[in-house]
Amino acid sequence: MADSRRKVGLMGGTFDPVHTGHLVLAEDVRDAFGLDEVLFIPAAQPPHKGGVATVPPEHRYVMTELATASNPFFRVSRIELDRKGPSYSWLTVTELQEKYGASTDFYFITGSDAINLLDTWHRAEELLARCHFIVSVREGVPLDEARLAKSFGALAKEHIHRLMTPALEISSTDIRERIRRGASIRYIVPDAVADYISKEGLYLEHEL
Ligand code: ATP
Ligand code: MG
Repeated sequence: MADSRRKVGLMGGTFDPVHTGHLVLAEDVRDAFGLDEVLFIPAAQPPHKGGVATVPPEHRYVMTELATASNPFFRVSRIELDRKGPSYSWLTVTELQEKYGASTDFYFITGSDAINLLDTWHRAEELLARCHFIVSVREGVPLDEARLAKSFGALAKEHIHRLMTPALEISSTDIRERIRRGASIRYIVPDAVADYISKEGLYLEHEL
């Protein structure tokens, strides 16, 4: 029998800048879990980074649009950019559930570095109860199952799913550092993103 529930992946991040690691992760999860779409959600004020992204939201938004344009399953959401106040995932999922209705299931996509800190997120338990988490285990950062079980009990087992994804040791931090020292970022970000960064002169003189 066909599954009539809609499955939507949520790929949150600072995307400062968006890179191939983000795109491969989102596509692998989409494929493995049969998602109908993946929403990339650039954070306005990342609560876990002391409220600072290095380039303004509009640049991060445009780069995310450029990076995802060729994939018909990918869309970029402005939900956190257009909101006043912090980019709490709990609030984002709550608003999206209202918008999409009860027949949609949400799959929140993260790396293991992010999920291990879930107990520090705003209204984490309620968030975990509202959606599934698909976790890509990043090199050197194993999933901290003991910490997750201690904080969330059975809910952690039921709602947190692990996916082995190719080890692409790419990070926005490394990309920003490369740009500052004049090294190539070709193939680490899509060509359109590399062109935009160079045209706009981004990351040349910002803090890492
Ligand atoms: P920064 O270096 O600035 O922290 P980042 O590369 O970690 O940037 P974020 O925007 O912080 O990128 O990440 C958004 C999400 O993508 C997080 O859940 C993170 O774990 C995941 N992610 C980032 N890079 C990779 C990668 N290379 N492989 C798998 N997941 C990744
Ligand atoms: Mg990060």
